[in-house]
Amino acid sequence: EQLFISDFLERSVGRFPDNTALNFQGYKVSYRELDRMVRSMVACLQGMGVKKGDSVAILLPNVIPCVVAYYAIMRLGAVAVMNNPLYTDRELTHQFNDSGAVLLITLDLLAERMVALRSKTGIKKIIYTSIGDYLPFPKNLLFPLVAKRKKMAASVSPAPDLYKWKAMIASHAPSDFREELDWDDVAMYQYTGGTTGVSKGVMLTHRNLSCQAQQATAWFPGLEEGAESFVGALPFFHIFGLTTAMNLPVSMGWGIVLVPKPQGPQLLEAIQKYRPTFAPLVPTMYISMVHDPAIDKTDLSCLKGCFSGSAPLPVEVIREFEKRSGSVIAEGFGMTESSPVTHVNPFHGGPRKVGSIGVPISNTEARIVDLAGGVTEMPVGEVGELVVRGPQVMKGYLNREDATAETLCDGWLHTGDIAKMDEDGYFYIVDRKKDMIISGGYNVYPRDIDEVLFENPKVQEACTIGIPHAHRGEAAKAFVVLKEGETATEKELIDYCSGKLAKYKWPVAVSFRSDLPKSTVGKILRKDLRDEEVAKET
Ligand code: ATP
Ligand code: MG
Repeated sequence: EQLFISDFLERSVGRFPDNTALNFQGYKVSYRELDRMVRSMVACLQGMGVKKGDSVAILLPNVIPCVVAYYAIMRLGAVAVMNNPLYTDRELTHQFNDSGAVLLITLDLLAERMVALRSKTGIKKIIYTSIGDYLPFPKNLLFPLVAKRKKMAASVSPAPDLYKWKAMIASHAPSDFREELDWDDVAMYQYTGGTTGVSKGVMLTHRNLSCQAQQATAWFPGLEEGAESFVGALPFFHIFGLTTAMNLPVSMGWGIVLVPKPQGPQLLEAIQKYRPTFAPLVPTMYISMVHDPAIDKTDLSCLKGCFSGSAPLPVEVIREFEKRSGSVIAEGFGMTESSPVTHVNPFHGGPRKVGSIGVPISNTEARIVDLAGGVTEMPVGEVGELVVRGPQVMKGYLNREDATAETLCDGWLHTGDIAKMDEDGYFYIVDRKKDMIISGGYNVYPRDIDEVLFENPKVQEACTIGIPHAHRGEAAKAFVVLKEGETATEKELIDYCSGKLAKYKWPVAVSFRSDLPKSTVGKILRKDLRDEEVAKET
């Protein structure tokens, strides 16, 4: 039986009322309490005039109110717009206006700034929460951090239509209201990562999200409902986190260990303290754990399975993390436009192939088609554009009919990613179409070069781009971050590549950096490096 996203929560409340749904640094919320908070928020938002189809923006890290607000919005049939708290006013103004948000739920730290921003947007009302609203030791006011947070919350200047989360929850009796929904109603305007340009709003329907949750559970046959616990470190404002670290566990009555600041030390600490059993994370998180000295003192044996997606995971990092944890990292693939997961390596009942994104998940079709924009399928083993079709594929982009028409064709989503399929039906991402380098007439995929550099024991991170070249048109240039205490020369790294790559792929230059530009979800921004090079040229 197909359930709407908020009905999954209801079902878990019915089956496992006392299970821990959320664990925020030791502050635990059971499914029963979560449901009560959601119903109070429904009453509160309804009282504020929110109705079916209205856009409600959330600007929060992974904290308890983020989860509560999201399911309340789903029950009201309103449209959730998740935003990244690290975004600038410019980026937020774009998302608030593009999505037509009328109400905003945010953090005390951002409240003042958002009140100022409000006049440039359609947002009328703002609700803000404080980290101190839910902490394990409410009485321990001497604890400096708690005291500081409390002070911060108290210092937000009063403004019209600005409300405190905790007071709002407390003053509204739980409501049983739920809006009549249609499967094709839009549930979210979810913005893309902004890795290749301005973020686009993706219209995800209730069907998309509900099917995606079912597809995700179908991938884990044999796991017991109510018995697992997930690392909630991927940001919920990004679709990968929302689906795999929130909707999936909630649909199964599993627990979520919230990690609002998902960096090496915090991740390792959360695993050590709360013993979660599954971890969906992105490559930068695995990389930061593997390079954190604290990993030697962390017992990772609680992990039964890990997944990675959203960007390529270097094979070296997979090996190191698996050796240390004894668990397996299943790499998968997805994009905002497909809610996001379309491929993953099998967890049960099939071999995993390192370096592959696995096979299409249930009810999902995938093909490799001609790169020239055709629909002709490519033979096994040959590269082309990956196209996918399934119930998780978006309705379209918001306010961008042209982009929608270019991307969706007869239900097939054109991913913009270059990939190939092997004889067993496993898929491999080669690179993004936009990142391909054409050197002396050959196609060079920067990821190939990055992988080789990653194998060098001195290298911590690497990213290659195309630069103009007098004879070859374009040539590869690598940007490298060395591991702490290491030194290397440009020539040494080029020589290293020369033993492992065909000559036309060798980088012609290597630039050493202390870090690489990354998007706020941790993807390396090749476009920023390219822009830097162009700026240098002129
Ligand atoms: P924008 O579309 O705004 O430029 P984005 O494409 O990074 O940003 P997302 O929808 O978050 O935004 O990311 C989807 C993209 O992430 C895919 O198209 C693909 O390029 C990349 N990706 C996802 N999973 C993997 C993976 N396992 N390996 C390599 N790349 C991946
Ligand atoms: Mg994209």
